[in-house]
Amino acid sequence: MLNYEDARALVFEHVVPLEKGQRPLTESQGLALSEDILAPHGMPLFDNSAVDGYAVQAADLADASRENPVRLKKLGYISAGDSGEDSICSGQCVQIATGAPLPPGADAAVMKEDIELEESHVRFFQSIPKTENVRFQGEDIPEGRIVIPAGTVIGPAQMAVLATFGFAKVPVRRVPKVSIVSTGSELVDVEEKPQAGQTRESNRYMLAGMVKQESCELLKMSMVPDVPEILKQEFEAALQADVLLVSGGMSVGDKDYAKPVLKEMGVEEIFWKIKFKPGKPLFFGRRGKTLVFGLPGNPASSYVLFEEFVRPALRQMMGRRILEESMVKAILEESITKTYKRMHFMRGQLHEKNGKFRVRPLKFQGSHSIGSLVESNALIRVEANSPVLPKGSQVSVRPLLNEIG
Ligand code: AMP
Ligand code: MG
Repeated sequence: MLNYEDARALVFEHVVPLEKGQRPLTESQGLALSEDILAPHGMPLFDNSAVDGYAVQAADLADASRENPVRLKKLGYISAGDSGEDSICSGQCVQIATGAPLPPGADAAVMKEDIELEESHVRFFQSIPKTENVRFQGEDIPEGRIVIPAGTVIGPAQMAVLATFGFAKVPVRRVPKVSIVSTGSELVDVEEKPQAGQTRESNRYMLAGMVKQESCELLKMSMVPDVPEILKQEFEAALQADVLLVSGGMSVGDKDYAKPVLKEMGVEEIFWKIKFKPGKPLFFGRRGKTLVFGLPGNPASSYVLFEEFVRPALRQMMGRRILEESMVKAILEESITKTYKRMHFMRGQLHEKNGKFRVRPLKFQGSHSIGSLVESNALIRVEANSPVLPKGSQVSVRPLLNEIG
């Protein structure tokens, strides 16, 4: 049986990043840039004033003071959007708006609050260093700099930079199309009332939510009973996706048909079963370009396996640089007395106190625990065959995108 590291390495080895293309800027949030973004010009675009005030030659104000104000002749007003081509000479100043181009000859700007107006002159009461209140062309982003590296996911900050540089279309990779098939004859849909022995299906909604967090496209979602012919029919359509997530039927039960049916349909098994808790029966396979993850039906197993195997694989397909949330070191608030021969990713509650992360493992770690999903915001990594971990030990923790009460 593969361990966690080797199984993850095998998944990453089989992922092929999807094709590069172009998308309108307005539709690019959540996608990953397929190319480095080089600044086609510097920012700011031109030297401009950082204040509403007066553009001056700093040398003119060298001797200005409260007692001996300097008077400069006022020329006019440069507002934002003006081209600002008229220059000023020594002895002159010009009123200027924030962001308006600094006129030739000027080398500083004085705030409006610091002057007094006369009819045709302006009085200044203090000296000012050259360059004060000037924003220089290219000082923020020089022309040619890699301002966003390839593989970065586009969020609001990246949108701003892309817009600034005129990227109405953005170079990105295609996102994976994902199908989700939940299997189990005991399952009923959300609007139905479970009869004796039945349970409402929840994994489809959970997995779809996780897929959407990654901005991937849902191609098909379905729920099917443990009947090989029906499974076959559903899988055939679902295998048109880039990634197929199957929930349930991956273990060794008499009705666990999902895995044998997938194999019968030409899905090559890359691995099945890992030394990992929760979710030992994880199946990973491939048919053509389609990757197949067979997730055991227990909700917490599916959830944790998605975090550790599926999410990073989706991100790798999208060409993302950062495949997962970095693990953080945290102090255990309660001892972990039970450890296993398998690696255990325990659900826990992470919080920060006095600048340090602290984590409390949930008492109830059942892989069927649906309650644990809304009570945990982190996974605590406990190594295979780990000794007991007393309270106060340092552990590695994966923070999750999940709000808890
Ligand atoms: P399986 O992996 O098919 O053996 O299922 C393991 C357990 O998870 C059983 O108790 C199932 O009832 C439950 N289960 C399976 N699939 C789902 C699902 N889609 N939603 C909620 N529970 C499920
Ligand atoms: Mg089942």
